[in-house]
Amino acid sequence: MGKLYGLIGHPVGHSMSPLMHNGEFKALGLSHHYQAFDLSPEQLEDGVEAMKMLDIQGFNVTIPHKVAIIPLLDEVEQEALDIGAVNTVYKRDGKYIGTNTDGKGYLLSLLTLMKVKDLKNKRVLVIGAGGAARAVAVSISRAGVLSLTIANRTLEKAENLTSVCHAYTTANATTLQEAEMMLSHFDIIINTTSIGMSPHLDRMPLSLEDLNKGTVVSDLIYNPLETKWMRLSKQKGAVTDNGISMFVEQGALAFEKWTGETPDRERMRNAVLKELGGYSC
Ligand code: NAP
Repeated sequence: MGKLYGLIGHPVGHSMSPLMHNGEFKALGLSHHYQAFDLSPEQLEDGVEAMKMLDIQGFNVTIPHKVAIIPLLDEVEQEALDIGAVNTVYKRDGKYIGTNTDGKGYLLSLLTLMKVKDLKNKRVLVIGAGGAARAVAVSISRAGVLSLTIANRTLEKAENLTSVCHAYTTANATTLQEAEMMLSHFDIIINTTSIGMSPHLDRMPLSLEDLNKGTVVSDLIYNPLETKWMRLSKQKGAVTDNGISMFVEQGALAFEKWTGETPDRERMRNAVLKELGGYSC
């Protein structure tokens, strides 16, 4: 029998998740449905109660509810607690459990890009210390990296995130200016800030002067599909990836948690690219 899944956020009209999940339900012959619900912060508590009454089997959580939802759930997994945010809720034995597939999704997309099984000997720079940075930094620290450096405009936020990651790896905080001078020191550099996102296409998080050929440079932004930062990194011989891989993988992990089925990641990716106008198959 068809089950109901969904997304809560404010706003949710622009989200590509309904298209991605409903497309995959259909392709796999599942009669489930994924529905976006626009809930303002004032509506969150009643909205989550309504989701439970509707017996929704799982839902995604997006801005601005990723933190506020935590006390409204029956349980929250440790990784989501470390990140300080829930982006996916699933139902087990009558309980609504919070998890975070953003960080794991990023980690898996990075391993796929690099064609490696782990990051144990890698020195990583994360630029930014906002919500996306928290998910990425916590998940790659938990997976075990040689070292993690977090650079942010507001140094205090980088220091705060570093203190969480310290439980899992050698982590330190720095300024954007210092990070810029140390670029050649890193194997992997990740932009988690919104700098370079449409319409500010000319902006870059850091200058790439000291970038080594072969460094992995990734950008969580997918609008545009290729930021100026990505384009220049590629020109300098970096191995690059945009934010589509993370978006698809976080959705695929939620899909697996909810249905126990393995979705076709390539098909999900193509659905998203088609929506964004970058379909190239
Ligand atoms: P956020 O919590 O608001 O954090 C924004 C980060 O960007 C902060 O570190 C902020 O620094 C920095 N920043 C913004 N403007 C800046 C500027 N002019 N100069 C220097 N630093 C600046 O946002 P978020 O939720 O983490 O999202 C960040 C980006 O990730 C967005 O582009 C979003 O679309 C993308 N994202 C992608 C995925 C995916 O699946 N691919 C998932 C989530 C997010 P301060 O701390 O100093 O303010």
